[in-house]
Amino acid sequence: MKKSLLAVSLGAVGLLAACADVRVGFNLPPESTVQAADLGHQVLPANDGWAATGTGTTGGAKATSDNIYTVGTRKELVDALKKAGDKPKIIYIKGTINLSTDDSGRELVEKDYADPGYSFEAYKKSYDPAVWNRQALVKGKPPALSGPLEEARERSKQNQAKVVVIHIPSNTSIIGAGADAKIIRGNLFIGKGADNVIIRNIAFEDAFDYFPEWDPADSFNTKRTEPVIEFGQNYTVPGCQDKFESDERGPQRCNGGRWNSEYDLISVNGGTHVWIDHCSFSDGERLDKQYPPVFAAPYNQPAQKVQHHDGAVDITNQADFVTLSYNHFYQHDKLSLIGGSDGLTSDRGTLNVSYHHNFFENAKQRQPRVRFGKVNSYNNYFVGDMDDHFYPFAQSVGLGREAKVVFQNNAFDIKGKVTPSDLIWVFNDGTALVESGNVLNGTPVDILADYNAKKPKLKVSTDLDWAPEEPNLLPASQVPDYVKAHAGPGKL
Ligand code: CA
Ligand code: CA
Repeated sequence: MKKSLLAVSLGAVGLLAACADVRVGFNLPPESTVQAADLGHQVLPANDGWAATGTGTTGGAKATSDNIYTVGTRKELVDALKKAGDKPKIIYIKGTINLSTDDSGRELVEKDYADPGYSFEAYKKSYDPAVWNRQALVKGKPPALSGPLEEARERSKQNQAKVVVIHIPSNTSIIGAGADAKIIRGNLFIGKGADNVIIRNIAFEDAFDYFPEWDPADSFNTKRTEPVIEFGQNYTVPGCQDKFESDERGPQRCNGGRWNSEYDLISVNGGTHVWIDHCSFSDGERLDKQYPPVFAAPYNQPAQKVQHHDGAVDITNQADFVTLSYNHFYQHDKLSLIGGSDGLTSDRGTLNVSYHHNFFENAKQRQPRVRFGKVNSYNNYFVGDMDDHFYPFAQSVGLGREAKVVFQNNAFDIKGKVTPSDLIWVFNDGTALVESGNVLNGTPVDILADYNAKKPKLKVSTDLDWAPEEPNLLPASQVPDYVKAHAGPGKL
């Protein structure tokens, strides 16, 4: 039965015979991977998604006894990583580690990092679109920010980054020592050259950027009126024009501009063979709703909130062979970006990622948003509300440039007015999606058929150049209960 499902979904587009120079397998039924004893020495099971490719993902399982650590502070974590370097190492996390702390354990906040030349109030005054956007546009957009306040913000940001960004070397397992292990207020960074990393059983919260940057050109346009559909409301923002003539019209009245922040909870930024399992990811105590937009209309749309959080798990910069399983993502906007830019064609052939049995709860977008990569996503559970004021459900999979996605047996419980095509977002022509077995609010759906029926401008192909091996798919009807019972930390 399961075999025929996959044969239909892929065979129908003529792939099983044609392609398959790249194949990725799946794990055995999930129960078989769970063993109570010694999480630190466990390795990614064979065939469990893309991270099982080639050498597989063993993390620090081969650590000698002098490279097994238990840490409870930022300093202890950094010291352990430094001491072991690339040697296999197992690091158990005990209790909560706040990454925004000094060596004595004191929490560092905005005033500790801020450059003397920086204040948020002065920054807002200088770069308010009503002031900054009066300048001549550059290629139809306001010029990038410059001047002493932006320079001071950048220095402040660097001060914070030096503390909160923790680089993870090769051959590392970072494992929650109990059901209550947490890493908060910082960013684990798996950079280029870092291979073979396992992260399990940890609650990640609030990678808060104290110095978000206003990007006046992000989502900027000079349309004379702009329809806005957000949070269930339809409205237009005032017309604008591309040259300054008066206070009433001109680029200082155009729609657009966004706050952007720097830190993901985990960045797989060039790293390879990474398994992230039974973790949770959220904004923690500092939700977006505490940071509303600051500039006057028409810039004060919800999308222009002062964004202090970036991705939950972003996978960029030729990162490859990543499996995310049994994680709980909740109360976060931009969940998982795969590929940072359409222009980064160096990402072609990399960014291969698997998602299975994850619980995406009240997250807004990028679950994941894919460029270039071959991505398979199955047996995930998505819960959301189209009309939520802070994390409205906007999409599960986002199909960006050259994305090739297999999307199977996922379950959605989405409140509000929702149709199957709302479950995906298509950003580019030339993307490919093969989907089957997905269920929306208890009803089987054909997402692509609904999308195509709406005669969209952007075409989605079903022509993949790869195929996952048959996963042990659960029927989507069983996914909600199963995933709620098993996803997240403390459930191993
Ligand atoms: Ca960003
Ligand atoms: Ca990011």
